[in-house]
Amino acid sequence: MPELPEVEVVRRGLERWVSGRIVADVQVLHPRAVRRHIAGGEDFGARLKGHRIGLPQRRGKYLWLPLADSPSAVLAHLGMSGQLLVQPQDAADEKHLRIRVGFEDALHTELRFVDQRTFGGLSLHETTPDGLPDVIAHIARDPLDPLFDDDAFHEALRRRRTTVKRALLDQSLISGVGNIYADEALWRARLHYERPTTGFTRPRTAELLGHVRDVMNAALAVGGTSFDSLYVNVNGESGYFDRSLDAYGREGEPCRRCGTLMRRRPWMNRSSYFCPRCQRPPRAVS
Ligand SMILES: [Zn+2]
Repeated sequence: MPELPEVEVVRRGLERWVSGRIVADVQVLHPRAVRRHIAGGEDFGARLKGHRIGLPQRRGKYLWLPLADSPSAVLAHLGMSGQLLVQPQDAADEKHLRIRVGFEDALHTELRFVDQRTFGGLSLHETTPDGLPDVIAHIARDPLDPLFDDDAFHEALRRRRTTVKRALLDQSLISGVGNIYADEALWRARLHYERPTTGFTRPRTAELLGHVRDVMNAALAVGGTSFDSLYVNVNGESGYFDRSLDAYGREGEPCRRCGTLMRRRPWMNRSSYFCPRCQRPPRAVS
């Protein structure tokens, strides 16, 4: 599953290669890829045709292409394996090509949605006055959004009877923080994932948000170097994951701060990685 920095890299690639172009035709090659567009693939294509693509937008891990001359937008669901590629028209079809979007210009490139496992897809939705596709109107802003409200997030943390990692993954509180970046930020903040948030002070919330932003910006800095090419790609992997992770995936390896062996615990059908010394569990669960 791609996380926010990977999705942002794709958004930037689309901004560069697709924004401002007018859709000439749409070819749906697999019905599952448009199953979230209830009226079907033919309707999806007909509604896009002739419309200009606006500036690609993102909130959390959600990515959409607004239609510049209509209160609607194409929402991209990347699922587990979805990719948005900008390819030369004469490039051979990918094995798992699901949707092809051609444009009314002489750039000789097209947008392709490729998805091996077909969990993802594209769908057209009406947009809210804020410009969000209506089906994601409940998703909170992400911490890299200039309009993210740190104070409101702090108040919500204190109000809810929850624990810190649950809060970070709660898309109605803060969006775009996935399992990997949550573990990384918690390691940096020296917070155990089960720590209750009710007692959080304002400085502690500010420090945590700072680490979340640092981790995401570091990933963006690495991922952002590859979007210059024509190949716009998302597959849930990035060089950052291999080189720069301090917590996620490091079970049994020494903590980079104190040398204690890192641990992994099952957590909500996923895993949590942490240093048992730097990130002491709260008393109730120790
Ligand atoms: Zn440690």
